[in-house]
Amino acid sequence: MGASNGAESQQLPPFSSILDTTYAWLKNLQAEEVVKKTQDSGRYEYLPISGLAPFVSAARKVLFGPLGSKEARVVSLQTISGTGANFLGAKFLAETLKPSAVWLSDPSWVNHANIWGLAGVQVRRYPYWDATNKRLDFEHMIQRLETAAAPGDVVLLHACAHNPTGVDPTKDQWTRVADVCEKKGLFPFFDCAYQGFASGDLAEDAWAVRHFLERDTLEMAVAQSFSKNMGLYGERVGALHLLCRTSMAADKAKGHLARFQRGQISQPPTTGARLAATILSDPELFQGWLLDLGEMSGRIRQMRRALHDELVALGTPGRWHHVISQIGMFSYTGLTPEQVASIQENSHVYILKSGRISVAGLNTNNVKHVAEAIDAAVRT
Ligand code: PLP
Repeated sequence: MGASNGAESQQLPPFSSILDTTYAWLKNLQAEEVVKKTQDSGRYEYLPISGLAPFVSAARKVLFGPLGSKEARVVSLQTISGTGANFLGAKFLAETLKPSAVWLSDPSWVNHANIWGLAGVQVRRYPYWDATNKRLDFEHMIQRLETAAAPGDVVLLHACAHNPTGVDPTKDQWTRVADVCEKKGLFPFFDCAYQGFASGDLAEDAWAVRHFLERDTLEMAVAQSFSKNMGLYGERVGALHLLCRTSMAADKAKGHLARFQRGQISQPPTTGARLAATILSDPELFQGWLLDLGEMSGRIRQMRRALHDELVALGTPGRWHHVISQIGMFSYTGLTPEQVASIQENSHVYILKSGRISVAGLNTNNVKHVAEAIDAAVRT
């Protein structure tokens, strides 16, 4: 959806919110300043193949929390953001695990099929979105994995804020997914592109990953991105983490991963990793970042509520509760391609053909217009 957040400035936010935003913005500037001051010497040197060590260890801590005795079983490398982590993980598993298939949710982030196809692994799908009831098709998801996936297959899971549906499993459901992985010998591969952006809480958004880790029975990979949660899109800041059964297996995997990394990019880039490391390791900057995450995720939740309330107030035919029960930046509205086309033509609101909207593109000035556009399209 092409709406700009800038339009919000016409309606003044409360003073406290201006202070918060300014504070958050200053924090970012401050981080850049810190990087400039402290890293000028050697700023353009190569990093090690596995990346900037302080970044990699801070990123790992943000994701898993304290690893304790499992520390030596985890291999982590800095990657070209989440995409690079997905790709490196796919290439590595294609060669070492040799899965008969990777199982992607239907639908999933479009690049997943592309990445695994390039890695030479057959892409198969498990049901995810129940279009009739506009919710997670959980029983069919479990059933498909139980009956059709083979031991050693990879199951790609979105750690939080599923893209594109905005629908996440509950904690009980995650537990059942872990049960199936255990029972069937499947290899879970988490894509964690929105930690902190879903609930505003880093631990809550990493709950599924940490649950799989705690069970102590599973190996897994996690692709981590700082594009969204730090707004570092173009800096390409991310990491791949691989949890192995033993520390010896981890050492071996480290060598393989380094070879793939060397072949693809030699060394990961410096500036974004330094910026992220600075934020993650400075207590004051870290607190500022948490405030930013709370503010951004809270604003998205407010916009979900606003869109839902407008649709209900208009008496728009259909049920709209899914707009508020979904989480993260995206909402699968359930609009058909015809409705999307009519909204574009008549109201100049641009929505993906799949009916997915970016809730972050809504603001207090455009939400009514968007709701009216949806209302008109649904009624025709
Ligand atoms: N994974 C998912 C599910 C995403 O939605 C995205 C970005 O949209 C990414 C990974 C990769 O983002 P990046 O490569 O910018 O970290």
